[in-house]
Amino acid sequence: MDFNEIKSISDKYLMPTYNHFPVALASGKNATLTASDGREIIDFTSGIGVNIFGVNDDGWKNAVTQQIERIQHTSNLYYNETVAVAAKLLCEKSGFDKVLFCNSGAEANECAIKLARKYSYDRYGENRSTIISLVNSFHGRTMATITATGQEHYHKFFMPFVDGFKYAEVGNKEAFSELLDGTVCAVILEVIQGEGGVLLTPSDYIKYIRQLCDENDIILIFDEVQTGVGRTGKLYAWENIGVKPDVLTSAKGLGDGLPVGACLATEKFGSTLTAGTHGTTFGGNPVVLAGAIEILNRIDNEFLKSVREKGEYIKNKVITFNDVFEVRGMGLMIGVDLKTKKAADVAARCVEKGLLILTAKQSLRMLPPLTVTKNEIDKGLEILKNVLAE
Ligand SMILES: *Cc1c(COP(=O)(O)O)cnc(C)c1O
Repeated sequence: MDFNEIKSISDKYLMPTYNHFPVALASGKNATLTASDGREIIDFTSGIGVNIFGVNDDGWKNAVTQQIERIQHTSNLYYNETVAVAAKLLCEKSGFDKVLFCNSGAEANECAIKLARKYSYDRYGENRSTIISLVNSFHGRTMATITATGQEHYHKFFMPFVDGFKYAEVGNKEAFSELLDGTVCAVILEVIQGEGGVLLTPSDYIKYIRQLCDENDIILIFDEVQTGVGRTGKLYAWENIGVKPDVLTSAKGLGDGLPVGACLATEKFGSTLTAGTHGTTFGGNPVVLAGAIEILNRIDNEFLKSVREKGEYIKNKVITFNDVFEVRGMGLMIGVDLKTKKAADVAARCVEKGLLILTAKQSLRMLPPLTVTKNEIDKGLEILKNVLAE
């Protein structure tokens, strides 16, 4: 099919929840994609932080196909070796004790919310179920996670929303402490707000929250759906700030393109959700987890160092480009603020010129595959530089 045919069929049959860029992606290798018309396109998006080993990775493909040839799905009612190995590996590497596998970031956050409320209910009974999230956060699209998302424009159309959420202003310690009225059971936050504009949550604010959570037996949840799995140059972003949460949610990069989510918990909280209190049909699918094992095994210290180095290389170049006002981020999660140009216009123009790049609020956002090569980085940055100079 040519592009126009793909577009017209898609526009006719897909619910119009996304404004598509005018390109159809067909295949590729690493961060170099091929469009339906054969055009080469450099990928600085990884499908929004998902394809962390790029497209068509040989090791990942082998792991996934080998599992497909054995067994593609078992209910969570039965044990499976691949699931066991993935659970052990993820817990050991991340420093947590128990994991629940699901299918997406929103689902991982749903699990964290349910875990927090049940932990509190078991210990303190009813009326201690409030979850605090941060203003400008993003936690997903399900009813509970859009409610947790601290942005007004998500809180329209779908009322009634889920009760028991409050929003704290980022960086304001006093306002945060005033929210602790005895009904709070958990706090959920992103170390870097991704959808919110690649904004680093101040680490002294997070430390303060950690301290208040400890003092009040409140569960601290980090939503590392976007920041996790090596994205920020550590396996999980909490390692960059030295504040460990009680519960951590992971998704996006964990499956390298196959749908997966994980809700991790420390020993104290890990057995809160008992048989019958939570579950999922597909969650922890062995095919997906075979791919996750391959990824986790390859993210070692040397790999993480290369992520940090590539991030610095990109930041140092981009700050010299025309119209760039600020470049920020950690590892290969990078936000760029522009002086006069609109990020959305720049992203659209980049696609025409052969570069996929994301926006987040008014900022440009880059989430290239962690395996992006120097050559691919240079090709992509050349396009961005030219577009910003127009
Ligand atoms: C993408 C994202 C989510 C939602 O993940 P889905 O897999 O789309 O449900 C939640 N939290 C953060 C921080 C994200 O970036």
